[in-house]
This record gives sequence, structure tokens and C-alpha cells, in this order.
Amino acid sequence: FMQLYYEPLYRDGVQFGLLLVHRDITREYEVDRMKSEFVSTVSHELRTPLASVLGFAELLLHRELKPERQRKYMYTIHQEARRLTTLINDFLDLQRMESGKQTYVVEPVELTPLIREVVEIQQLGHDSHNFVLNLDESCTVLGDQDKLRQVMTNLISNAVKYSPSGGEVRIACRSIRGKAIVDVQDEGLGIPKDALPQLFTKFYRVDNSDRREIGGTGLGLAIVKEILHQHKGEISVVSEQGKGSTFTISLPLQEREEHPADPEAVEL
Ligand code: ADP
Repeated sequence: FMQLYYEPLYRDGVQFGLLLVHRDITREYEVDRMKSEFVSTVSHELRTPLASVLGFAELLLHRELKPERQRKYMYTIHQEARRLTTLINDFLDLQRMESGKQTYVVEPVELTPLIREVVEIQQLGHDSHNFVLNLDESCTVLGDQDKLRQVMTNLISNAVKYSPSGGEVRIACRSIRGKAIVDVQDEGLGIPKDALPQLFTKFYRVDNSDRREIGGTGLGLAIVKEILHQHKGEISVVSEQGKGSTFTISLPLQEREEHPADPEAVEL
């Protein structure tokens, strides 16, 4: 996209000519387009649950309803308000990370106990999935514990969400050539090939009849990707529709000190 315009040229307050300005505004145009697309996605995502909160609250206020109907509407309001809270929190977290305003507490993090903890929390939620863990003890990385927990939570809760109850969720963690590698594998719906390129894009959700009922914001994987990026890590996915998916992340292992300080050699 080019922008053309004339700038008048003055000398001693008198115009003596015109300057033809020719400017490439492709980038500005693109940024503008992305901004407005983004604003419309966000406002749609916020309006939909808000509209249902308002609608049901009005019904409760203005109609005489049977107690069980009242409860049903209150339940919906509660669900939608919770959905909004998650959406806003996730959105702000992602925004903070992307703009470089997030501070990270960097410390050695052992992935194995972290994964066990996340799995335990998943199981508390009456989960009927069958977890199979194969975790090496040697996976220590340098990073922000809370953020890495969020990565594991998002991947493991997706494996649960997008696979039938009773299904197996396999989680493996090992260290290979300076990297910690974690696989999260499910026997679920899988991901269509044409969806793979957009999977980690903000708000993207696979739109299939078989998953329309499954709630979500489309921010989980975008958050995972951003956190991994901040930790110099990577993510990949292998998936077959109807068979299941495997998400694999890799993170640089904490470098071991080659020559640990010899206490006797320290001069006091
Ligand atoms: P959502 O809030 O929709 O779960 P995510 O960003 O976590 O958002 O995931 C984006 C989309 O990727 C989901 O809507 C879902 O269709 C697909 N997806 C993610 N993980 C899996 C998985 N383990 N199996 C099948 N589909 C998945």
C-alpha cells in the first residue's frame, strides 16, 4: 500500500512549490487491520457471555419463576460469569507477557513433581481419565515455576477435555542432549490437518460438530506458546483425527556446574 500526497514548500512565508511524497504504508496498514480485527474478536468474546448473564438476570428479576427454573438460570449466570473471568484473566496474562511487562521469577524447576501436582489437581475434578506417567527425575530447567505449571496445566487439561472419559493420557518427561522433553499424549478427537497452522493463534478454536459443546477461550495454547518462547523452549504437535494428539515441548535443561566449588579450596 502506497500513500501519495503533496507537501507545500515555503520560502520566506511564500509558497514556491509542491513536494510529492510517496510513502510505503503497508506495515501501518497491516498493523491497523490486525488491531481492528483483534478489537472485534475481543469484543465479541466478551459480549456473548455478558449478554447471557444480563438476559438471565433480567428473567430472574422480572418474571415469576418456579424455584427449579430460577436455579437453572442462576447456574447459567454463574457459569458464564466464571467463563468471563477466565477469559479476562487469560487475556490480560497473555497481553502482559507479549508486551514484555511480565516479570518472571527464574529459578531451578524440577518438572517431574510439577507434572505430578498438575495431574493430581486434574484428578480432583472427578476426572475419569487414566493417567500413565513415565517421568525421569533428571528434568530440571531454569524458569518461572508458576508459568511452567500453567504450560503443563493447559496441555494436560486439553488432553482431558478433548478426549473421552476413560481414555488414556500419557505423560512422559525425559532429558536428551541438554533438553528436557515432555510429551502429553491423548486418545481423543485429534486435530484436523488444516487447523494445525492456526492452533497456537489467540482465540483460535477448531470448529467441528464433535467439539461444539466443549467450553474454552482459544487462549490456552497461545499462552503455552508465549511462555515457552520466553523460556527459549519449543512446542510441536502430532495428531490424527479420531485417533488422538501428542503435544511435545522442549526446554533447555539447567546447566550443571562442571566444577562444583570445592569448599576446602575457598579462602576465608
Ligand atoms: P481452548 O480454550 O479452545 O481449549 P486452546 O488454545 O487450548 O483453546 O486450544 C485451541 C484449539 O485446539 C481447541 O479449541 C481445540 O479444538 C484444539 N485442541 C487443543 N488441544 C487439543 C487436544 N489435545 N486434542 C484435540 N484438540 C485439541
